Amino acid sequence: MVCAVCQGKMVDKNDDLDLRIDGKLYIAHNVPFEECSICGEKVLDPEISEVIYERIHLKKYKKQRLEIPTLDLAVNM
Ligand SMILES: [Zn+2]
Repeated sequence: MVCAVCQGKMVDKNDDLDLRIDGKLYIAHNVPFEECSICGEKVLDPEISEVIYERIHLKKYKKQRLEIPTLDLAVNM
């Protein structure tokens, strides 16, 4: 498969994925997906997306407290 954005080669991956659903940030572990080796475009199998959405809908996830680096360009740090 080639990338829909840049025609680069897509590579199979199994990694963490961050998703924003209804304004909420979720991090999914061990997600199989394809990633463009050139532009980084990620493509998820529709079946996998369905599993993720279903798990979120059914609240089948663990809540974990994370420290996330944030930056605000209006503030000179
Ligand atoms: Zn690409």
